[in-house]
Amino acid sequence: MPIDISALSETVLWTVTFVGAFLAALWLSLVIWTFRDMRARSRDILAQVMAALVVAVLLLPGLLIYLILRPPKTLAEQYEQSLEEEALLQEIEERRVCPGCNRQVDEAWQICPNCLTRLKKPCVSCERLIDLAWTVCPYCATTQPAPEATVYEKPEFMQTETVANAPVEPAPEPAGTGPTEPSLTEADGTDSDPA
Ligand SMILES: [Zn+2]
Ligand SMILES: [Zn+2]
Repeated sequence: MPIDISALSETVLWTVTFVGAFLAALWLSLVIWTFRDMRARSRDILAQVMAALVVAVLLLPGLLIYLILRPPKTLAEQYEQSLEEEALLQEIEERRVCPGCNRQVDEAWQICPNCLTRLKKPCVSCERLIDLAWTVCPYCATTQPAPEATVYEKPEFMQTETVANAPVEPAPEPAGTGPTEPSLTEADGTDSDPA
């Protein structure tokens, strides 16, 4: 009987020690986990320490409070989201717009069908469409003729149109009619008043 009791108390002691050690390890790992989790969600050191302290003091209820209050997204997720948003924004910005009339144009168009602005040029070698300013084809590495020459050459037929339209309408007429009209009316006014 006495042997049994001492053996029993020893096993109880061992069990209590084991469970106590396990609970202590669990408590410590929960605190560490909370600290790490908060560090992944916030750069604020005070918030990281506070979160770990709440769990350290309140244990499981503290963990529950932390899980409710913690920032919903980790810093990595926030960064990823900002990258996605940026990419989306860039896509919208890159949606090609004609520099002449601001209408949407297709990536494969050489010319704007609305205002006849030249958008792209075909490579002299592989004939794939490249930017007007590029001096070398990115697809076949062929050097392109000087951009001024190609820009000038191709739009001849439409440049005559725009050149003919542009200067005749806005440039000389307002300049001629603008200053002469007010002076005429002024002269009329001064003439008519004394008479
Ligand atoms: Zn256009
Ligand atoms: Zn090419």
